[in-house]
Amino acid sequence: MQNEDFMRRPPSRVHYRPVPALLVVPPGAVRATHNLLQRAGDREACAFWYGERDGHVSRVLSVRSPEQASSRGNYHVEAEAMSQLVRDLPGSWRPLAQIHSHPGIDTEHSRYDDRMVSSRKILSIVFPAYGLPIKPWPIGLGVHEWQDEYWHLLTPDQTENRLALDTDIDVDVRDFR
Ligand SMILES: [Zn+2]
Repeated sequence: MQNEDFMRRPPSRVHYRPVPALLVVPPGAVRATHNLLQRAGDREACAFWYGERDGHVSRVLSVRSPEQASSRGNYHVEAEAMSQLVRDLPGSWRPLAQIHSHPGIDTEHSRYDDRMVSSRKILSIVFPAYGLPIKPWPIGLGVHEWQDEYWHLLTPDQTENRLALDTDIDVDVRDFR
């Protein structure tokens, strides 16, 4: 079993350029994500955010966890499990972010994570401490965005400008495990 700790990637040669896009996340989606990740116990797990895009603003409406293999050092999802995840997704909903947990507070992508992101048009967000809410949102999250051939880890300031909490709405939550 490969452990992500041994798979550190080289730093980017260019800086991340902030974009005008905003990902709006209802507090219920944050709670649901923590819960889904924590169901794996002391093992890494993944979840996906889906919702609507309107210009530069995307809004999370659904949090879904696919059938997956979880271990202390990584997670794996088969293609068939990804298909099952989106089978009944409303037509106007798009994938917005891929989420996974890390054991500790290091939320930088590993080389493995770079390969595992299902789309370069979505954000990849790493939650620390196997999904336990150890810091107030969004502190400690590792938000990554694809730009100039690299998955950039956003700084805390960049993260504050890229993600926004919104008024609470009922979020669709599914666990396919
Ligand atoms: Zn990872």
